[in-house]
Amino acid sequence: MKKKISIIVPTYNEEDSLPYLYDRLNVLMNEMKEYDFEILFVNDGSKDNTLELVKQYRENDKRYCYIDFSRNFGKEISMMAGLDYATGDCLIFIDADLQDPPELIPVLVKYWEEGYDDVYARRRSRNGETFLKKFTSKMYYRVLQKLTKIEIQTDTGDFRLLDRRCVNALKKLRETQRNTKSMFSWIGYKKKEVLYDRDARIAGKTKWSYMKLIDLAIDGITSFTTSPLRLATWVAIPTFIILIIYFVYIVIKAVVIQTFVQAYQAIILLILFFSGIQILLFGIIGEYLGRIFKETKHRPLYLINEYNGKKEMNE
Ligand code: UDP
Ligand code: MG
Repeated sequence: MKKKISIIVPTYNEEDSLPYLYDRLNVLMNEMKEYDFEILFVNDGSKDNTLELVKQYRENDKRYCYIDFSRNFGKEISMMAGLDYATGDCLIFIDADLQDPPELIPVLVKYWEEGYDDVYARRRSRNGETFLKKFTSKMYYRVLQKLTKIEIQTDTGDFRLLDRRCVNALKKLRETQRNTKSMFSWIGYKKKEVLYDRDARIAGKTKWSYMKLIDLAIDGITSFTTSPLRLATWVAIPTFIILIIYFVYIVIKAVVIQTFVQAYQAIILLILFFSGIQILLFGIIGEYLGRIFKETKHRPLYLINEYNGKKEMNE
């Protein structure tokens, strides 16, 4: 029996990139004849011809599969659907825009055969990305690592191979605000790093705006650690120390020199000080409250319109 490799491609408006990807995946599958393949496209509510292209690929070759979402749910959720629907012995996430070179897949598979469960590709370089994006992404990983005890792999995207048991583990993590990268770290298992040069996107435009990236960054931090909540304590301790010193100072001044403090000045300062702290802390609490709210709704993570041509009833 041949082992089966599932390749998951989250796709959102990728009609320009898909033909290139299709060619390179076909070359790859021809070179790796000792394996069975399943290429699973997750069409994340594309508004262009992506779905038609994918259907066409399936017509020609049944190894190509697709899930069509009922709307755009975002890349993280597309990856979840990939985890749910993949049937292979291992699973590989790859971007549709060929920024993750499919030619690296044999290397990932080689390490998998050697017994590694989670073989992830780490960027040695990133072509075609702005300095600002590279810089912010680097800083983000630094901050995230400082905030948490679990080790985070820097400079890794989602391009990686996961053994079936990692897939099964990840399927159990069904939170709605997903930060898949931190989940890969969380599940543990035997990990192996492979270095590669990240190419520029082959066609089309990036789907990420800075707003979306900031959203993702905040989600990443709050889903991974509750240390921002501890900020409350850190702010509160010095505040109380200042308060006590100030109180002692006023009492001594009143008793010893027998003068009066200008009350309105002190009051204004104190009001500003404490309302500032309160707003900050409310913000942080709100952040977590929002997450609890979303989690307690227990909605399905995604809705599927069609799976390999069959209408989904979503029962
Ligand atoms: N993607 C998706 N849903 C989205 C946005 C992006 O499935 O809402 C897919 C996209 O088609 C691509 C991958 O996620 O295959 C990475 O997106 P992109 O290349 O735009 O991100 P970048 O490489 O610029 O970080
Ligand atoms: Mg890209």
